[in-house]
Amino acid sequence: MSALIVVSLLITVAVAATLIWGWRDGWLTPRGLVGHDAPGIPAPSRRTHNYAAVAEVMKFAAVRRRIGYRAANEIMRALADRIAADPRMEIGRVGRTSIEFFYRADDPADAMATMQALRGALQQAVTVDAMPFAPEIAIGSNRIAAGETGDELFEISALAVEDAQRKAERISFARAGEFGATAASARMLPDLIEAIHEDRLELHYMPKLSLADETVTAAEALCRWTHPRHGNVPPMTFVGLAEETGLIDELTIWTLDRAIADQHRLLEQDLVLPIDVNLSGRLVSDAAFCDLVIARIGDASGKIGLEITETAVIEDTDAALTNLRRIADAGIHLAIDDFGSGLSSLSYLRDLPAHELKIDQAFVRSLTTSHRDPLLVRSAIEIARALEMEVTAEGVEDELALSLLTIMRCDHVQGYHISQPLPLPQLVEYLKSGSKPVKNELTELQNRLGTRPVAN
Ligand code: C2E
Ligand code: CA
Ligand code: CA
Repeated sequence: MSALIVVSLLITVAVAATLIWGWRDGWLTPRGLVGHDAPGIPAPSRRTHNYAAVAEVMKFAAVRRRIGYRAANEIMRALADRIAADPRMEIGRVGRTSIEFFYRADDPADAMATMQALRGALQQAVTVDAMPFAPEIAIGSNRIAAGETGDELFEISALAVEDAQRKAERISFARAGEFGATAASARMLPDLIEAIHEDRLELHYMPKLSLADETVTAAEALCRWTHPRHGNVPPMTFVGLAEETGLIDELTIWTLDRAIADQHRLLEQDLVLPIDVNLSGRLVSDAAFCDLVIARIGDASGKIGLEITETAVIEDTDAALTNLRRIADAGIHLAIDDFGSGLSSLSYLRDLPAHELKIDQAFVRSLTTSHRDPLLVRSAIEIARALEMEVTAEGVEDELALSLLTIMRCDHVQGYHISQPLPLPQLVEYLKSGSKPVKNELTELQNRLGTRPVAN
């Protein structure tokens, strides 16, 4: 008898716990409130289902508050029943405002047609307590790739459904890798934190060549991360992740400290080289962080410069300008990175206490193939001159671009044609072997482009 009481008590506790858990996470199962397998997600049967999707009832949170949670849950359950009525579909979790499900489609066109038909069916009015409610539905979907778990699949669908809500047709399919990369990079955050703390990132150095005397005048420090499982993660991905999560200050300090230490190692080999570090735009308006950077650079044995993108200053102009002036007053070399990619005005450029303008590689790469880009590069060089700044062209990939930039009297160049970003030992070799000769093939260039040298 007492065993029976214990068992029934246990069942009651288990049911209550499941209910609380389910309520907290905001989901219901399709057949009644909170089912047997919650909160897990059913693994798709790969033979029967090859797509995952999330259907979201738009602006439903406000409706829920107005009509009450019981009626709102009934609406969600009625919608889930409509999905489940199609034998090609299988319901996952039913949330407060969205429903996860799997389905089968022959190809992308069939998947789109299936989702359009389903959306039509879901938008039919649902009557609860004699009250009709016409839901507006957005659907995000993605093809199931090998090895993805239920959670990963629906993370991607959930990002696609955000996109769908911005589209007129309210349906969005995540292209391979598109939203997956975002979801995957967010999962890498703990690994990135660990990599910074355990000093497992690396710096590679991209030499900057002076066109006047063909010497390497500086190198740009570029961060590299080899993830233990995913391999090389592009800097854009992990720097972006660090920016979004507030980890960028730690990443920047790590980069700065490593660059200072490497510069010291170079000095021990009689190599004097200024190093430029990228300073994320998010940090430029943070006065305390800028103080820290100024102090760190002040302690370095050599010259450490900073690169900031032009968009950095546009967001919080006053604070950014004040901090940049303090950086410049401390004698730190400042470069404006990716010039031309943002929307900077001339007056704002005039106010920036920068010493160098780096022309965005998008213009430089099509320098010899486009008609307009050479003009833009030439204008950028002239703007830099007028503002008494040095000018660097990034993304120089061939001899022709190099020659054209020489004619345009650009001060410095960077790019794969000069050198790829190099790990420190290779940088030492590169510096010791002497930089690449720069050739000016003027006649050939003029023949190919039909241009004449630009007078300075
Ligand atoms: P960025 O500062 O504009 O750096 C230049 C990027 O262009 C580097 O990519 C470099 O490898 C690439 N590049 C340079 N020349 C050429 C070329 O001729 N052809 C081609 N195809 N690419 C060229 P990377 O290393 O992938 O870095 C991408 C971006 O990530 C950097 O753009 C920078 O914004 C950011 N980043 C990298 N390291 C750091 C860091 O330590 N801190 C911060 N805040 N950002 C960083
Ligand atoms: Ca840069
Ligand atoms: Ca750049």
